[in-house]
Amino acid sequence: MTPFHERRTPMPSITSIKTQDVRFPTSLELDGSDAVNVDPDYSAAYVVIRTDAGDEGHGFVFSCGRGNEILTAAIDAYARLLVGRDIDELISDLGAASRLLIHDSQLRWLGPEKGVTQMACGALVSALWDIRARRENKPLWLLLSEMTPEELVSVVDFTHIRDALSPEEALEILRAGQEGKEQRIAELKAGGFPAYTTSPGWLGYSDEKLVRLSKEAAADGFSMIKLKVGGDINDDRRRMALAREAVGSLPIAIDANQRWEVSEAVEWVNQLAEFNPYWIEEPTSTDDVLGHAEIRKGVSPVRVATGEAVQSRIIFKQLLQAGSIDVLQLDSTRVAGVNENIAILLLAAKFGVPVCPHAGGVGLCELVQHFSFFDYSVVARSQDNRMIEFVDHLHEHFAEPVRIVDGRYAAPELPGTGAEMLSASRSHWEFPGGTGWQEVGNRAAVTGGSLSTAGAGR
Ligand SMILES: [Mg+2]
Repeated sequence: MTPFHERRTPMPSITSIKTQDVRFPTSLELDGSDAVNVDPDYSAAYVVIRTDAGDEGHGFVFSCGRGNEILTAAIDAYARLLVGRDIDELISDLGAASRLLIHDSQLRWLGPEKGVTQMACGALVSALWDIRARRENKPLWLLLSEMTPEELVSVVDFTHIRDALSPEEALEILRAGQEGKEQRIAELKAGGFPAYTTSPGWLGYSDEKLVRLSKEAAADGFSMIKLKVGGDINDDRRRMALAREAVGSLPIAIDANQRWEVSEAVEWVNQLAEFNPYWIEEPTSTDDVLGHAEIRKGVSPVRVATGEAVQSRIIFKQLLQAGSIDVLQLDSTRVAGVNENIAILLLAAKFGVPVCPHAGGVGLCELVQHFSFFDYSVVARSQDNRMIEFVDHLHEHFAEPVRIVDGRYAAPELPGTGAEMLSASRSHWEFPGGTGWQEVGNRAAVTGGSLSTAGAGR
């Protein structure tokens, strides 16, 4: 008689996890940008998880170029914890899968829960969600919307946020979200979710270009435009006046990308107050929870927004507890993936703060739309004062590029998280050996020297 362990069907397991350093030479296109504008080469530290059951899960972390190889190395380090594991077990308990990575007793020293390690965990966690969503044949937002409140709560890591949000309170929010859910899902499928655009407002643009793009954005139906500020107050006043004239009463947000000290932020924003900015984004260091609270008091009624560089649910918790922000801008790849973003959406709902996700770069629009769609269907259940950032860059490289219809994101339909980048694009722009980079040669800022130097050691 055959012993039991030999008769058992072997468990389907993860057979390989491969990373790729994919970079696009976008700094070449920003020709003539001024000294204030940085020169990012939009990049993805990309990962594909494969199993012997034929699954393929995609994930990535966004970065600005140099250092992308550090992210891929970090993903490789965490990937060793997953190879050989039972895929069915991992995707049936994605809360445990996430904790396995984030709380690893040795790797956690490198964070904990911040920076490169947090982002690397996020890429892997989200790739596991990609497998789950593909198996269930649903786009991520719909998968999340149709999960039970109990299962959603089970994927959230409440470590260090229980004082602000208990599992019971999260369950209450999600149970309340079941009421009218089908109708909201139908609305999302038919009418999408509001978008705003940052395209007109880069600091390097001429006044003529600013006015033209602002008018176009208003005509295209976007809910808001956003201008970069913080270089020179006289320039900012002139540009705000031009933009205000171009778009009439349409909201205009301003974004300082963490440039100011606390008191400087208050003074600067107050000098722009007559143009009625909708929010001031990243006025100072994202880690300065109390500084944001001070700024918020000083610039009211202008709203304070931040989030694209906030590294964990724990910092978001404090920003909310301290009354530091009016708008929460979660980012899909800054934190530890889908699970942590669910935690952040629940925290925002508990405190009644609207979520307007950060996007742009490469692939961030494709990913982050899923969180706003889910937020509307079962968490916040409102589109008031809520919109997703949109920048028209590099969408053509994705299996399902975002679609903007009348200034709104249309509901994504392909099964998965939206992370899948076309394999031809990935190999063409793999750094430094891809054919794209061989053609670009040493002209791209990302190399910081020669391609061969940058590639050394890989
Ligand atoms: Mg920003």
